[in-house]
Amino acid sequence: MVFDAPVLPGYQHVYSGKVRDLYAPLGPGGEPAGDRLLLVASDRMSAFDWILDTPIPDKGTVLTQLSLWWFEQLESVVPNHLLSSQVTDVPPEVAGRAVLVSKLEMVPVESIARAYLTGGGLEEYARLGSICGVALPEGLVDGDRLPAPIFTPTTKAPFGQHDESMTSGEVDALIGEPLRLRIEDLTKRILARGNEIASARGILIADTKVEFGLVPGGDPGLEPGIVLADEVLTPDSSRFWPAEEWEPGHPQVSYDKQYVREWLTSPASGWDRHSGEAPPPLPDEVVERTRAKYVEAFERITGRAFG
Ligand code: ATP
Ligand code: MG
Repeated sequence: MVFDAPVLPGYQHVYSGKVRDLYAPLGPGGEPAGDRLLLVASDRMSAFDWILDTPIPDKGTVLTQLSLWWFEQLESVVPNHLLSSQVTDVPPEVAGRAVLVSKLEMVPVESIARAYLTGGGLEEYARLGSICGVALPEGLVDGDRLPAPIFTPTTKAPFGQHDESMTSGEVDALIGEPLRLRIEDLTKRILARGNEIASARGILIADTKVEFGLVPGGDPGLEPGIVLADEVLTPDSSRFWPAEEWEPGHPQVSYDKQYVREWLTSPASGWDRHSGEAPPPLPDEVVERTRAKYVEAFERITGRAFG
């Protein structure tokens, strides 16, 4: 896989995820810092476990700015990894899309909570009547609100592979029950608080994925500090639905990669998602509509103009 991670003087590139490029700030002697990272959100778009060749302009800035806004809203729920988002603390070429964060030991689970039933959760429910071992009432349809938000964690699959659902027991075997209980509780609270805030702005948050890290080197006798990392409540990590259009029984209008997914699976793309071949470049119209959706999600949720 080829990335366009920018070269940043004073920083050493250490890793690239599907969307973010990570750098270690270099000290005066040129040594990489061990306790901090520069997290730069690119305009890369992933869909169907592929990174698309066509970037979505401004997407990385939208994701960073929306996460910053939510980290602040969620301060009473969970501490976050931010050290600084000040423009002066990040290289000018990535200003707006970069943040300086504490380098954490990441919990090796994708923490997902669902308030509404759709997507992969709906498929699993249709097959098993449950999601990640959580039993649900019979007769639920696409878009239904769940009786209560549920925790539906998955593996963090290596690039190109699909994340797999995990039961609570499987998560306990990996990270221990006490830590699982805490990330489960925090993930549900982030979704619940997110929905309280978003509903006042006419948006439903159907589901969301978060990642937690532990402050390294903590006193082993003390409870480890759990910190919210990566991004939070963005259109990449969450399904946002306009509340006024919500109607269970069919797929909902959504503020995320919907246009991209619809175009890729339509005859117009000429692409077969099961072929194992890379998806084709996106047409300008799909790029522009997707960019507009990301910007609209930011503006509607924060009440601020973008850019
Ligand atoms: P993957 O890493 O599996 O490709 P991804 O595509 O979601 O997942 P990105 O969001 O593009 O990844 O990259 C961000 C990476 O940085 C993730 O691996 C995430 O776990 C890691 N990360 C985020 N915040 C921190 C932090 N504070 N300390 C250490 N690692 C972090
Ligand atoms: Mg991520």
